Amino acid sequence: MNDFFTKSTISGDIYRFLYFNGQSSRQEISNTLGISLPTTTRNLNALQEEGMIENAGEFESTGGRKATIYQCVSNSRCAVGIDITRNHLTIVLIDLALNIIDSKRMRIPFRETHEYFSILQEEFETIVSANIADRSRLLGIGISLPAIIGEDHKTVTYATVIPLSLNIYSFFSNYIHEPYLFFNDANSAGLAESWKGDYTDSVVYLSLSSSVGGAYMNGRSIHAGDNNRGGEFGHITIVPHGKRCYCGRNGCLDAYCNANALTDFTEGNLKEFFEILKSEKNKGIINIFNEYMENLAIAVNSLRMCFDCDIILGGNVGAYMSDYLDDFRKKAIKLNPFEKDGSYIQVCHYRTSASAVGAAIYYIDEFLQNF
Ligand SMILES: [Zn+2]
Repeated sequence: MNDFFTKSTISGDIYRFLYFNGQSSRQEISNTLGISLPTTTRNLNALQEEGMIENAGEFESTGGRKATIYQCVSNSRCAVGIDITRNHLTIVLIDLALNIIDSKRMRIPFRETHEYFSILQEEFETIVSANIADRSRLLGIGISLPAIIGEDHKTVTYATVIPLSLNIYSFFSNYIHEPYLFFNDANSAGLAESWKGDYTDSVVYLSLSSSVGGAYMNGRSIHAGDNNRGGEFGHITIVPHGKRCYCGRNGCLDAYCNANALTDFTEGNLKEFFEILKSEKNKGIINIFNEYMENLAIAVNSLRMCFDCDIILGGNVGAYMSDYLDDFRKKAIKLNPFEKDGSYIQVCHYRTSASAVGAAIYYIDEFLQNF
């Protein structure tokens, strides 16, 4: 993702300022951006006429005239995110402020068949037609996949979690008629978390779902790496010659900390695992979770040593971690020679839709850059 403010126009600068700062007054915009007050006024009026910004009352004044509050109209544009996993399909419609306007999550095993894509198309159309009267307001559709995606966001360079054929991108065109691109699932989730958490510095997102992945974020952009494999934390070796990983090697973090390491004991049901854990009655489950956290602590400490930034526990398991965060922080801190405070470890905002939201953010980011 490119830097912001690449295309600089006065109205674009004003719009982006309002977008990233929430609310502001004419005077503050003029002062901060170094634009004369008349030019600021003219541009604000034009943006308002286009329906891009609105008045939101007046600021409290300590004397003199009260200043009008300006803010972006969050539903002036929207984007769709579709997250395809082995067994689930999630579709979200988000506005510019990343509010989820509508969403659908269903259990449906992925198959590259007409039947599967027809269902996807139907669900997509239902959401879009129920919420967007004017299709030109839909910026695009980001599709999140458990795969490594080429730089063009149209090719899949590595996929073992779900089988994907080489012409998968063109296959989609039979069912989706707006602009669409592919994104890695864990990278997308990291993007959603960093935007939602308003991170301006570096942050690592660790995705703990049916596979383990992640993203290293620099503010609002993903560090993709030389081969678009930045953040493939699942294949960090944590136990030499250890358990077999799906990649064919042994001892990878994925083999120890994917969600199956827990759900293998509850017939694939993660919610049930955490319910039993919470009841504190099943010693076996408590031990399994303890061992899981010990292994996860090794990875989290390694990431802290590499990046020295906040680490967000995400994915399906991360969504359940808040009750166990204190415990987990203690385990991670034991391995850390420099720190006694584990507050750098955070829990994700999104429970199930981070990857879908993150894939949609691409189009919002693009819109903001080119405004
Ligand atoms: Zn591996």
